[in-house]
Amino acid sequence: MSNFKALGLAVPILQALDEEGYTTPTPIQAGAIPHLLKGRDLLGLAQTGTGKTAAFALPILNYLLETPRKAASRGARVLVLAPTRELVAQIGDNFASYARHMKFSHAVIFGGVGQNRQVEAMKRGVDVLVAAPGRLLDLVGQGHIDLSTPEIVVLDEADRMLDMGFVHDIRRIVARLPEQRQTLLFSATMPASIRDLAHSLLTEPETVQVTPESSTVDRIRQAVLFVDSAKKKDALMMLVNNDRVVRAVVFTLMKHEANKVAEFLSKNGIPAAAIHGNKSQGARERAMKGFRDGSIRVLVATDIAARGIDVDEVSHVFNYDLPNIPEAYVHRIGRTARAGREGWAVSLCDAEQRAWLREIERRIGKDVPVIADHPYHSVEAQNSTLPPPVLGGGRGGRGRSSGGRRQGASSGNSRGQSARGRSPGRPSSGRRHSRDRGRRPS
Ligand code: AMP
Repeated sequence: MSNFKALGLAVPILQALDEEGYTTPTPIQAGAIPHLLKGRDLLGLAQTGTGKTAAFALPILNYLLETPRKAASRGARVLVLAPTRELVAQIGDNFASYARHMKFSHAVIFGGVGQNRQVEAMKRGVDVLVAAPGRLLDLVGQGHIDLSTPEIVVLDEADRMLDMGFVHDIRRIVARLPEQRQTLLFSATMPASIRDLAHSLLTEPETVQVTPESSTVDRIRQAVLFVDSAKKKDALMMLVNNDRVVRAVVFTLMKHEANKVAEFLSKNGIPAAAIHGNKSQGARERAMKGFRDGSIRVLVATDIAARGIDVDEVSHVFNYDLPNIPEAYVHRIGRTARAGREGWAVSLCDAEQRAWLREIERRIGKDVPVIADHPYHSVEAQNSTLPPPVLGGGRGGRGRSSGGRRQGASSGNSRGQSARGRSPGRPSSGRRHSRDRGRRPS
């Protein structure tokens, strides 16, 4: 039996893990699962790719096995909040996969598709509800979902949710949750806004931190090419036109740029598709399916859309545009070199984005090696001292591409403060073990 047995997980779960080929818990799993099985609140500092989904899904399933109860109508025993529909769907799939040998029901809730099936799925109640905050609140407002029932609540990628302007939605959701609950908060980064959120939601939490930056990034070979912006498409074509590029994700800042780049590659014989917030759910799913089965070699994505790309064999990440937020660079390049593989992260940097590269280099603590031996090398871009560009677009809109998403989106305003003043969900008891669910209605 696998090393997961030592963590104390039940046999039906161990069986599923065996079939998945998981033999050894990842560091976040080894660190978090024992605390979660004891019912403790948790602050998990971990990025996608570290195995964090299983880190919360496995002990949750174990809890459901140990305390079999029918979920209340329109309610869920467990609520998982995640920022994007891709991530919501992926978390739902992971739960279903790990729960294949037990009785288990779940629903996924996200916008961009009709709500009828989601409403129908919730009528009888589910064990696990995975939801994006906006649509969840819509359905709660319409009376289709009752938030008074969850015994365990997970906020996944909390920093992304704040970046996307979901802070008020989250606080409105939390205000409706029962005070007696176990709460888990996962975040890749720990800005002050996350510290505040964690403080208001968690009770005497355990903190588990994994630092994939060093371990993951070491396996990622990074490079930057300095090129003028007018030459970026040609430079990208040169990079992609290489047999070693098996499966690549290209990042752009803007949705329209993602479309243009995907069209350009397709016209030049490289099977490519764009995914971003303006694409229909169907188009995104087709693109992801093609990417998985290899019929699409290059996926062109904006930062937010890329959050849900769960494909292990990404050989290359190309930054067509550098991100304006250094943390996003770390997230992007983490799409490659997953599951123990090696990968390449190659960035195209023009004169305007040169300042962003300096910030990224400060963030990762080293210079990105420069490749200058190519036909598009621009000395002007390399030596540029231009101030960073000011991006257009609004602030903090839900589901925007990164172009419209600024750090300021998560800062408090009067609405935020009044929500915070209510101290939603902060249990009054000084309980140490956050679970006390025997009295929970079911
Ligand atoms: P996540 O960080 O949850 O997105 O997981 C990243 C990837 O690692 C997913 O493809 C998981 O299926 C996979 N994974 C998670 N835990 C393990 C494990 N213990 N052994 C092998 N693969 C795993």
